[in-house]
Amino acid sequence: MSEAKTEQSSAIKLSRRVQNLEISPTTAVMQEANRLKREGVEVIDFGPGEPDFATPENIKQAGHRAIDQNFTKYTEVAGIPALKQAVADRYRQRWGAEFQSSEIILCAGGKQALFNLALALFEPGDEVVIPAPYWVTFPEQVRLAGARPVFVDVPERERFILKADMIQPALTESTRAVIICSPNNPTGAVIPEAEIRKLAELARSRNLMLISDETYERFCYRGDQAFSAAALWNEARENVMVVSAVSKTYSMTGWRLGYALGPKAEISAAANIQSHATSNPVSISQMAALEALMGDQNSVQQMKSEYRKRRDFAHAELLKIPGITCDLPDGAFYFFPNVRKFLGPRIPDSVAMAKFLLQQARVAVVPGSAFGAEGYVRISYATSIENLAEGIRRMGEALSNSLTLTA
Ligand code: PLP
Repeated sequence: MSEAKTEQSSAIKLSRRVQNLEISPTTAVMQEANRLKREGVEVIDFGPGEPDFATPENIKQAGHRAIDQNFTKYTEVAGIPALKQAVADRYRQRWGAEFQSSEIILCAGGKQALFNLALALFEPGDEVVIPAPYWVTFPEQVRLAGARPVFVDVPERERFILKADMIQPALTESTRAVIICSPNNPTGAVIPEAEIRKLAELARSRNLMLISDETYERFCYRGDQAFSAAALWNEARENVMVVSAVSKTYSMTGWRLGYALGPKAEISAAANIQSHATSNPVSISQMAALEALMGDQNSVQQMKSEYRKRRDFAHAELLKIPGITCDLPDGAFYFFPNVRKFLGPRIPDSVAMAKFLLQQARVAVVPGSAFGAEGYVRISYATSIENLAEGIRRMGEALSNSLTLTA
């Protein structure tokens, strides 16, 4: 009886859309890390793409105030005018770009902003160019929209820095967009102004959309901030969209507040989609984000200088491990070291390497294959110097043992 029931329920067909979703190769490693932690094993976690700082006090207070003042109801679907204005002011002051309210949508995180754009812009038959290594979500969102991701390798020998010339050969009649990410997750690479200018020009001349994910914009250790495609808004209004969020900059990942800026038609389409998916982003988070953008910016500088310290320290430690190569990344809070030297019959790929490091060093990292780049692992340095020192020491020990395994 119960078997029949099971059969019956498993006969319910899942959509093709979902069947095509790639199961993340990181899941097994994460599950194993969590199992070890539950067993009381002290795992050093270099996995999370999330700041380890508390949300700054002034921002939390703004959230409290929003609740106390009963700002707890639906708002405009695309977000409250005051926060849109604050976003617009930020881009005008920093990049000289004039965005109208109708050219901005506030969403439940940068992720929803990108998803809205994917659904608004792409359909079956379309191709979307994604430079690799890429953030895991880009290709899946493109597939969920029914379109095909086309990958362009950005090699380590170029320090993972995308050049417009690398994109050109991948463009076809079906290309609808190029999705770039600077500072990059997982490599930390920052695309220089000259290349972003060329990419915008390419988008204009080929009538594509350049979608620029700038979630880590403020964590750029060369200069003040990574160059924003928003600076080209006045020249390429039809062909540039920018996505960002308060998530990483203000350590507000759980508040879920991001935004997209771009042409009115695309933003309005995104708002229509959002109106039938989640409606407005959380009202309380909008008030907190308003304080984040308008209030004291000292906390951002403090977090940035702490990340820089950790980056410099951990990078020097990593390079002490013979066999690892890793450029000093200019932005975000990740390293993407090359571990090919340690691969062989016993540890054939980056997933096996992540499992090996978990078992032998009790260190959790994310396999490079999750980001479309085999032979690498991602290390997040959004953790304390003590954890970095101990975790990298353990990695070095395990990796030197692994060389005897691969020999
Ligand atoms: N874009 C990139 C490159 C990210 O790494 C992330 C989060 O990890 C996001 C977007 C999404 O951020 P949010 O938490 O605002 O949805």
